[in-house]
Amino acid sequence: MTAPCIITVAITGSLPTKADNPAVPITIAEQVESTQEAFEAGATLAHCHVRKDDGTPTSDPERFARLMEGLRKHCPGMIVQLSTGGRSGAGRERGGMLPLKPDMASLATGSVNFPTRVYDNSPDLVGWLAEDMLTYDAKPEVEAFDLSMIFKAVEMASADQIRGPLHVQFVMGVKNAMPVDRSTFEFYVSTLKRLAPDATWTGAGIGKDQITLNHWSLELGGHCRTGLEDNVRLDRRTLAPSNAALVQRVVDLCEQYDRRPASVAEARSLLSLPAAA
Ligand code: ZN
Repeated sequence: MTAPCIITVAITGSLPTKADNPAVPITIAEQVESTQEAFEAGATLAHCHVRKDDGTPTSDPERFARLMEGLRKHCPGMIVQLSTGGRSGAGRERGGMLPLKPDMASLATGSVNFPTRVYDNSPDLVGWLAEDMLTYDAKPEVEAFDLSMIFKAVEMASADQIRGPLHVQFVMGVKNAMPVDRSTFEFYVSTLKRLAPDATWTGAGIGKDQITLNHWSLELGGHCRTGLEDNVRLDRRTLAPSNAALVQRVVDLCEQYDRRPASVAEARSLLSLPAAA
C-alpha cells in the first residue's frame, strides 16, 4: 500500500508578478481558476494570499472571503489555508481574515531574515495570531524557517496554545534564511519526530530547489508543497505554464518513491481536519 502525499499548491504569494510569469494568478477569478486546475491535477491543500487587482499584496478580509467562496464552489473539499504572512500587513491585522474560519492558517513561530528585510514575528504577535487561530478554529501550519521555530511550535502545542497534532512546514532556500541543505533537513525531520511523534510535515523549497524539496519530502515520508508563490519555472529555460503544471510535476514524482497523491478525504484525515461538508 503506497503512502498518500498531501500536495499543497501555493498559488500566488505576495512577491511574483505577471512580469515574472504571466500565469501567476492575481485577481480572485484567476486565483479560483488556477486553483481548480491544480486541484484537478492532484493538489488537496491551497495556500492562499490575496492581492489587489494592481498586484499589491493585501490582507483585506473581503477579498479572502470571495476567494474562499470561489474555492468552496469549484474545489469541493479542498483544504483552504490562508496566509498570515508579513508582506501583506503589519501586526495583528495579519490575522484579520481569521474570523472567516478557514480550515488552516499559516503561523511563523519566530523571526528570520528574508532577502531584503526582517520577517518580523515577535513573541507577542505569534501569541496573538495563535490565539485567534484557536478562537476561529483554524489549524495552524507552522512555518519553520529555522530550527528554533520547531521547538517554539512544540512548546506552544504542549501549552495548548496551538491546536495539535502539529503540522509543520520546513522552508528552505529563502535568501538570507536557511539554505537548502540535506543534513539540516534530515535533522529537522528527526527533531520533529523526537519532540512530537504525531506531527505531520511538509517540505517547501524556494526557486529552483522547489523540486529538490519535493524529492526529499517524498523520500522521507513527508508531504509536498509546490506552486508559483515559491517558484515560477519548470526548469532553467521554461516558465511553468500554470500552478497545475507544478502540481503535475509532484504527482509524476510520487511513483518513484512509492507514494501517491492523497485524496481530499485522506488529506483531511492526515491533518486531523473535519471531513468536507
Ligand atoms: Zn505564502
